[in-house]
Formats: sequence, C-alpha cells, structure tokens
Amino acid sequence: MEAVADLADKYSFGEVRTTHEQNIVLADVRQEQLFELWQQVSALGFATANIGFLTNIICCPGGDFCSLANAKSIPIAEQIQRRFDDLEEVYNIGELDINISGCMNACGHHHVGHIGILGVDKKGSEFYQVSLGGSSGHDASLGSILGPSFEAEEMANVVEEILNTYLDNRQENERFLETYRRIGIAKFKERVYA
Ligand code: SF4
Repeated sequence: MEAVADLADKYSFGEVRTTHEQNIVLADVRQEQLFELWQQVSALGFATANIGFLTNIICCPGGDFCSLANAKSIPIAEQIQRRFDDLEEVYNIGELDINISGCMNACGHHHVGHIGILGVDKKGSEFYQVSLGGSSGHDASLGSILGPSFEAEEMANVVEEILNTYLDNRQENERFLETYRRIGIAKFKERVYA
C-alpha cells in the first residue's frame, strides 16, 4: 500500500480509487506515462491482466478479520487463485465472476456471483455452500444452491469440476453464465458430487 501511495503521488495527483470488484484505480494518469507506470506495477506484482476473469475474485474479509464470520473467505480465494495460476487457462475459461462471503450477511455478494461461495457453520466447523448462475449485470439473477456444503480444502477441486462441466458443454463463444442457463444446474451437480 505504501508503494501504491507512492505511485499515486507520482502519476495520479495522489488519488487512488477502490472499485466494486476490489481493484485499485489510479485515475488521471498521463498517457505518455502509462507504459512507465505499467512497468512499475508489474515489478510490484500488481499488473496481472485478469479483470473480469476467474482469478479476479470478490471476497469479503471473512473469519480472518470479521467477528461476524462463520468461516474464512480469503484463504478460499487464495486456494482458487493458486489452482488457476495459468493465465492462458484463465482466458480460455473466459468471463467469470466468483464472489465469496464468510456469512449470510453477504458482503461478498455471493448471490450474484456466476459462482457464489458462502461460508457456513456446521457444529462449530467451517463449511462452504456453493451457488451457480448469479449475475449482477443487466441480465441480473440470483444464484441457485448446488447442494450440500463442502469442506475448505475441497473448494479448488469443486470450482475446477464446475468449470470442467462448463468447458465440456459450452458452445462456441458461450460464456459460463450462458452455458449454465442453457444446460441447467443438474449436470454441474452430478459431476461435482461424483
Ligand atoms: S459477509 Fe459476513 S464475514 Fe464477510 S464481511 Fe460481511 S459480515 Fe463479515
């Protein structure tokens, strides 16, 4: 954050904006300085070109920081990001929103994630309920619950099986959400729980 503040001072009139999708915008950068700025954010590890793709996750603070949480959120986001660390694969999967909330207060807006993940408490243990098909776009919809919840360490596998179901069934240029709406939740459910 110190480095971001320095970059904002140098390139953006000291202004930093945070976005709905939890990214940081330096507004009003001179066009001639864009490449130089990009080189510097790249060196800091902040220039991954994944906006709108699956590793650009919306995630609430969860049990690491929030006293209301039923479960941790950030380690789940990290687990998914580590599994999908190949940008070519991420681009092939295409437009995808994953939203994670650590409790039903839903600060991560999991209901409107294409894939939504909700932390739940089961007899004192952390579990995660998955929903599919939500959207916060012009085609807004609430996700449907896939089925019984999963343990934390299963979550990257669960997401992978959901995406494999999509990749096996998608038609040309079809986004995840469109495939989901065409084929319905049953095929996803069958594969994930198998
Ligand atoms: S969704 Fe729950 S755990 Fe996450 S920030 Fe909101 S209140 Fe806290």
